[in-house]
Amino acid sequence: MHDSGPTTNELMTENESLRARMAYLMEQAERNHEIMRRHQAFDLEIVGCDNFPKLVTAIFRSLPVISELDIVTLSLVDEEADIQTVMNVLGVDFGEFPQLHFVATEAALGFVPSRSAALTGPPKPLLGPYSPVLHAAMFPNPPAGLQSIALVPLLRNRRLIGSLNLGSLDPTRFTPALGTDFVEHMASIIAICLENVISNEMLKYIGLTDSLTGVYNRRYIDRRLIEEIARARRQAYRISCMYIDIDHFKQVNDTVGHQGGDEVLREVATRIKNELRMSDALGRFGGEEFVVLLIDADLESAVAVAQRIRHSVASQPFHLSTGGQLPLSVSIGVATLEDFERDHAIEGVAHQLVAHADTALYQAKAEGRNRVVSFD
Ligand code: GH3
Ligand code: MG
Ligand code: MG
Repeated sequence: MHDSGPTTNELMTENESLRARMAYLMEQAERNHEIMRRHQAFDLEIVGCDNFPKLVTAIFRSLPVISELDIVTLSLVDEEADIQTVMNVLGVDFGEFPQLHFVATEAALGFVPSRSAALTGPPKPLLGPYSPVLHAAMFPNPPAGLQSIALVPLLRNRRLIGSLNLGSLDPTRFTPALGTDFVEHMASIIAICLENVISNEMLKYIGLTDSLTGVYNRRYIDRRLIEEIARARRQAYRISCMYIDIDHFKQVNDTVGHQGGDEVLREVATRIKNELRMSDALGRFGGEEFVVLLIDADLESAVAVAQRIRHSVASQPFHLSTGGQLPLSVSIGVATLEDFERDHAIEGVAHQLVAHADTALYQAKAEGRNRVVSFD
């Protein structure tokens, strides 16, 4: 008996199959390298987004391409609807982002019951088959044939800020057995970027708004007026301005206290806002004075709006949280930008428009208050 080793033929076959495996592994390595490269480019792209709309646009546009996904959606926790309020004030159009939605609580994301969170640590991604019943909230408009999904928690300092929801038509793309390191890494970068742009937008909002009433502040109105005058000159439309001052507000503070006075200020701002168009801008100029910029409105229509505001304040008493109620009125001065002001410097024209409205307001006070006077 003797041991006959592998024949030449056998060795050649083995050699060939090794070569084939080698080629396959090389191909895999190259493919993985390409995926890594695309993800690094994606990371750089989103880190470079300096506002909220740019960031979500980049996520929804690039992520499906680089990760070969059939749908990507985002769920964000927005307990007091602060994010939505701020973005609305800053002019974000949520209609542009049907893949973005907000939930009121962390629990609504459905990762782990919040009670056990402390025991089990941060929530982990959920990977598996798509269920139209279970996942309707994360995928309100799923593509036809959606098969497997990954719901990846977005975490910042152990706080759940949302969920990144990935979907594929391939049933084997996301399975419970799959490792989650990769999606978790991606989600951690997205979470940092989201938190970053959201706090930037919050700062922007704080710098432009009045914290008591939530309407714009004087700085914003001054800046906006200059922009609007420049645009109105190019596009030939009218801008009008309203100066609103609450009548006998010192007495309001005297009778209901400063807290009550603040409540009244908030309610006045709300009533004014309810009479305005989306394109108009309302600002509090300090104390109990408000200024409104009416875009594409001549004097006549501005006066009509002012009368509606005056009526809205005077016709219904103000109810206070302490239970009391209080009648109130406002006086309003209205002015409009004249065509012949075309040749003057914009800053001067802006200043003059507000000054004219203020002059008309002074006259309204002198004539007995609770009235609208236009500058002529
Ligand atoms: P008039 O009809 O002539 O406008 O009378 P008025 O009492 O409203 O007079 P004026 O506009 O001069 O007074 C404004 C008062 O508004 C002074 C101050 O007591 C009050 N005030 C100013 N800022 C605030 C604020 O932020 N909160 C509250 N509660 N009161 C304010
Ligand atoms: Mg005043
Ligand atoms: Mg007043």
